[in-house]
Amino acid sequence: MASNATDTLLAHDYFAEIEDFLLNYRDESGEHKYRELIRRMILEERYDIEISFMDIVNYNPKLVEEYIVKDPESAIIKFAEAVKHIIELYYPEYLDKISRIIPRFKDIPLLYKIRDIRSILIGKLVAVEGIVVRATPPKQKMVEALFIHECGSEIYVPITGDAIDKPMICPMCQRSSGSWRLIEERSRYRDFQRIVIQEKPEEMPAGRMPRSLEVDVYDILVDIARPGDRVIVIGILKLRGGGAKRVKSLYDIFLEANNIIVSQRMLEEIEISKEDEERIKELAKDPLIRRKIIASIAPAIHGLWDLKEAIALLLFGGNQKILPDSTRVRGDIHVLIIGDPGTAKSQLLQYVSRIAPRAVYTTGKGATAAGLTAAVIRDKQSGEYYLEAGALVLADGGVACIDEIDKMREEDRVAIHEAMEQQTISIAKAGIVARLNARTSVLAAGNPRYGRYLPSRSITENVNLPPTILSRFDLIFVVKDIPNPEKDSRLARHISAVHSYSEVVKPFIDVDTLRKYIAYARKYIKPVLTEEARKMLEDFFIEMRKRSLETPDSPITITARQYEALIRLAEAHSKMALKNEVTEEDAAEAIRLMKSMLESVGIDV
Ligand code: ADP
Ligand code: ZN
Ligand code: MG
Repeated sequence: MASNATDTLLAHDYFAEIEDFLLNYRDESGEHKYRELIRRMILEERYDIEISFMDIVNYNPKLVEEYIVKDPESAIIKFAEAVKHIIELYYPEYLDKISRIIPRFKDIPLLYKIRDIRSILIGKLVAVEGIVVRATPPKQKMVEALFIHECGSEIYVPITGDAIDKPMICPMCQRSSGSWRLIEERSRYRDFQRIVIQEKPEEMPAGRMPRSLEVDVYDILVDIARPGDRVIVIGILKLRGGGAKRVKSLYDIFLEANNIIVSQRMLEEIEISKEDEERIKELAKDPLIRRKIIASIAPAIHGLWDLKEAIALLLFGGNQKILPDSTRVRGDIHVLIIGDPGTAKSQLLQYVSRIAPRAVYTTGKGATAAGLTAAVIRDKQSGEYYLEAGALVLADGGVACIDEIDKMREEDRVAIHEAMEQQTISIAKAGIVARLNARTSVLAAGNPRYGRYLPSRSITENVNLPPTILSRFDLIFVVKDIPNPEKDSRLARHISAVHSYSEVVKPFIDVDTLRKYIAYARKYIKPVLTEEARKMLEDFFIEMRKRSLETPDSPITITARQYEALIRLAEAHSKMALKNEVTEEDAAEAIRLMKSMLESVGIDV
């Protein structure tokens, strides 16, 4: 008897439980959620249905614990069968219209980081977070190969891995010899794409190599995520490799996607509680709040006040504008530092990459083959082309800190123009045509071309960047390292304080609070330009244009870009104090910074 009971338990295939869940689960409003979803699936002639893990957990937790988690491959098939059975019962007239059904899971509570994936998870259903760094173009993947034997018999062979294997024995003539012909036109295919996801830059332990994971994507999931997108991929972890070509005992883990959720961009990742919000609003009441924020930026670095202010403005950003004809004008502020060696440029950039909510630190040469923008690259092993995202795409929605930008590659020099103004990167190469988002603020540093900045020469002579790129920066700073006994002794005292961890370098606002403050301002504060502020900026712009005409071979041409820059800077300055309006004090500060930039590059205003 007892053994009989175990037998039934083993034979238990959960079909009844799954069907019960789909038919009888009710959401908060009392609706039969999945009956409705099945009805809609039929009406919209789709074949996939999204099933929330949380719903199953609430209805029948055993189904999740004992079955779906342990044997997801079979669970997916069982869910499909159950949906099909329901259609049979309730909508029989549609049954022959639906060739197959794909259940897709979502709302899996436990999210894995790529770094935490271990071999014990193989065969399991997991949800993994990451950023898409690479994608092949959509392809057709053969899933069933049609072979014809020399005796004339036809046979479909399912393909499990990457290789197409001939049948071992002919079912008709029973021979294991004789030649087989693959009939490609009559084989069966599915839409297919391979993508690679990587750890999010802000979650990478400092100084480590980023980990990545290959994801096989089929059917409607193909092309829903582009390089640069932040995603949650739900799928089954599988093994690839071990074939004849390579070392037999080495396998690669990959994820076969069951669902891909592209997350909404920008700053939702920073959580701001009610208490945080109150503290932020309290801080903003301080009349000295802006000075405190600026002083809290890179406290270990002495001086460079205007530069730190520019960085603060960059972190807050201006307002993005969408014009009636749907043209976008960027709100992101770009800042360039050109400076003598040893003036803390790299230190500053690294600091910003640590505190900005979403940031990528890289050098002009780029950390990967994709460089700063994006590239079409050929995979050495498979010979296939894929699209790979560079730093500006990975920093979409955040800040790209580019050190030694003067050493940028030729391809990036071309593509960065579009990236900095339109904030997209278009690429068309080897049959891949794509446009990626790069809605990024750029904080860049460069070394002077002749080792030191030569005041007698213009900025364009001093730096190995074309004027077209220079003009896309809202602010440019030249940091000269001129010996000055009084300043130097202050610098020395500051540096020794840093080295002895003294209180001097403690910021007014701690890093965690500052991040939240910035995230809050960026999300909720959209200050409006007042008439007085607009007039001030406009008058200054007109004056600037006049002066630049009077300065023959002016190193920076004053164009409408600089006017937009002034507005962005004033908006950011207003946001820094959580104001709802851009007033004259904000305009005046934007003008002061722009003037000091023009002076430092040799235009007298
Ligand atoms: P750069 O990238 O401009 O060549 P680094 O960022 O590598 O310079 O800085 C060189 C070193 O000098 C760093 O250790 C930095 O902390 C120190 N240093 C330079 N200027 C300052 C400063 N103003 N305050 C504090 N430290 C400084
Ligand atoms: Zn045969
Ligand atoms: Mg440096």
